[in-house]
Amino acid sequence: MPSARSARSPRARVLGLIRRHGGSLLGSITATTSPSVVLTFDDGPDPHQTPRVLDLLAEHDATATFFVLLTRVRQYPDLVRSVLTAGHEIALHGADHRALTTFSAADAASRLARARIELEDVTGTAVRWYRPPYGAQSPTSWRAARRSGLVPVLWSGTLHDSAAVDVARRTAAADRAAAAGRIVLAHDGIADERDGVTDPPPPVSDRAALTRDFLRRCDERGIRVRSLHDALAAGAAPVRTLELTTLRSRSVR
Ligand SMILES: [Zn+2]
Repeated sequence: MPSARSARSPRARVLGLIRRHGGSLLGSITATTSPSVVLTFDDGPDPHQTPRVLDLLAEHDATATFFVLLTRVRQYPDLVRSVLTAGHEIALHGADHRALTTFSAADAASRLARARIELEDVTGTAVRWYRPPYGAQSPTSWRAARRSGLVPVLWSGTLHDSAAVDVARRTAAADRAAAAGRIVLAHDGIADERDGVTDPPPPVSDRAALTRDFLRRCDERGIRVRSLHDALAAGAAPVRTLELTTLRSRSVR
């Protein structure tokens, strides 16, 4: 006799997923099938932090994906080009740091489409991934991203470099994150009023030290650290939550 769970229709399962996660995970890449770990940095570029991160990545023969804010890209376009020259990947975090869920469907779509074109003018390469600020998504914002040719990417691990957590919890999170297939959230910038938000500043943490410790941990475990582009180019597949549009997708594809 089928269980209640397996008897649920695909639509009911998707709606349950949306309810549990407030829509935030919907149709987004959250992990990969790669034997590597994918490391990502949000909220940059930043003239102080980004070069430090680039040095650390070079020391560990690692690559990463940088989800940049256009508000910062306009200030530091050369820094963006340095990231690319060093072999890393540039992706979009937003025209600014305001949550896309606060805009109408039409505004969200036009903001993302214009932001993508402007960023591609700087990088000279196609921009494929989008990380919603705060990880905040709704079916409307998700559709806007997809219509703009972007794929939302969230995370399945974090260094807690912007969170008020104690050392033990931060260490435990980094330990869990240093695992094959994870997409790990870190930051090389701090969004502020220049980016359209007035969030309180994150608690002080030595972000470079957290990144260095994480890279060492991965080295010890023999796990390579890769940008999302590099992880997928090596034959891995993205792991994503169910697609809203089809209601038929598998959870892994
Ligand atoms: Zn952010």
